[in-house]
This record gives sequence, structure tokens and C-alpha cells, in this order.
Amino acid sequence: MVDIKINDEIRLTDDKFLMIAGPCSVESEEQIIGVARQLRKIGVNVLRGGAFKPRTCPDSFQGLGEDGLKLLAKARDATGMAIITEVMDMDELPLVAEYADILQIGSRNSQNFSLLKKISRYDKPVLLKRGFGNTVDELISSSKYLSMNGNKKIMFSERGIRTFEQSTRFTLDISAIPVLHEKTEYPVIIDPSHPAGVNRYVEPLALGGTAAGADGLMIEVHPDPSKALSDSAQQLTVPQFQNLYTKVKNINAVLGKTVI
Ligand code: PEP
Ligand code: MN
Repeated sequence: MVDIKINDEIRLTDDKFLMIAGPCSVESEEQIIGVARQLRKIGVNVLRGGAFKPRTCPDSFQGLGEDGLKLLAKARDATGMAIITEVMDMDELPLVAEYADILQIGSRNSQNFSLLKKISRYDKPVLLKRGFGNTVDELISSSKYLSMNGNKKIMFSERGIRTFEQSTRFTLDISAIPVLHEKTEYPVIIDPSHPAGVNRYVEPLALGGTAAGADGLMIEVHPDPSKALSDSAQQLTVPQFQNLYTKVKNINAVLGKTVI
């Protein structure tokens, strides 16, 4: 697997397991800095939070945009955490790249080849989410757009695919982990929150992905999920996350990996 240097302190290597956590969306200074401090205390080094949000319905909360990026930067200053946030289109790419330590490419943009080509010019760590209608081979092809200018700081994210099954929001494809490991040199980060759709399913999916050999997790955590402006049902409370974090550490100890 390639080594991914995220910042001066964090480097994802074969013997490490990367934990990314934070709210679906950045909503306010109190929300993002409050949850960042709590997550940092638990041991999390990478904070997630959407500032530009890809919402299915235009009436839904669209994110705070640049103000959200500024709040993420404040959270980084306050805690020393690295930040990951989604870039949705080419116009906002230079701005998002100024703030983010890791650029997140959302499921809906996994095959936005013009955007991928533009992102390939930035020498930044990238989290490429799998399109929910894409095969593993299509995901790998998308990663080749990102590496076309030599950037190898690529992480895949399996976040669930559309199947005939309707009892969860998406179907988490755990098989993608060994297949991606066999076919590529990039780490695989499991997002259990979006396939679960409700918070009681997040932990089993997270533990399953961890045991199946994922290189990390990205989990939505909100200080008060009932008040969240997006993905309210699936976000974990901090105590729920803390409980999960302990189990993830234990599974990784068995696998010979350290959680970073
Ligand atoms: C997210 O992680 O905030 C998100 C929108 O996920 P996805 O692109 O996988 O739907
Ligand atoms: Mn979300």
C-alpha cells in the first residue's frame, strides 16, 4: 500500500488504521469546534464536515459554503486536527483546496471526469468515494484520473451501493475491500454512516468493515444528532462514537494495526 502523508503528524501506512469523524455538515462554530474537541480527546486526528453539500433536494440545507470552510480552519487551529471536506465542483476547487488537508470527492461526483482531472493537478491527499451505481473497476478507473499527474495520495471510500435491498439506505459492499487491495495500492476507508441511514446500524457496519481489513473508517458524529441539518438519523452521538472507537481499537489490535 502507498503511504499517505496527511500532515506532519499523520501518516497512513500498512500498520495503521485511520479514523475520520465529524458531523455530516458544518453548521455553526459552537457545533464544529465543540465536537472537534470531544473527538480529539477520544483520539481522532482527522475531522470531517461538509461545507458544500450535495443534497438530493434543492430545498434541503446546502451547507455554509466558504463560512463553513473558515469554521473548519478554526477547528483545526483549536485542536490540531487535520480536516477533510467535500469539493463539489470546479469553480470552488481552488477555495476548498486552500482549506482542506484532504479533498473529499462525493459519491455523486465519482465519475465527474473533468473535476477529477482538475483535482489531479493538486498535490493533495484525496478521498475518492465510490459512486453508488459504480462497479469496483469503475472506481479504479476514476482513481486513474486523479493520479494522471503523479499524485498517489489517493484513498478509496466504500460508502454503499444501490441494490434491490431497501431496508438500509445503501448496501455496504464489504467485498470491495479485498478486491481493491488486490487490484490497487491505495487504502480503503469504509463509510458506514451513509449505507446505514440510521444510527443503530452504523456500529455493526463499521466493525464488519474493520474486521474485513479496511484501512480506516469515516463516521458521522454530531453533538446533538436530533438537531442536525443533514443526515440527522444516521449520525452518532459522541458517547456512541466513543463506544465504537474502543471496539475498533480492539479489532485492530488483533489485526496488528494501530488506530491513528
Ligand atoms: C458525505 O460524506 O457527506 C456525503 C455526502 O457522502 P456521499 O458522497 O457518499 O453520499
Ligand atoms: Mn452525510
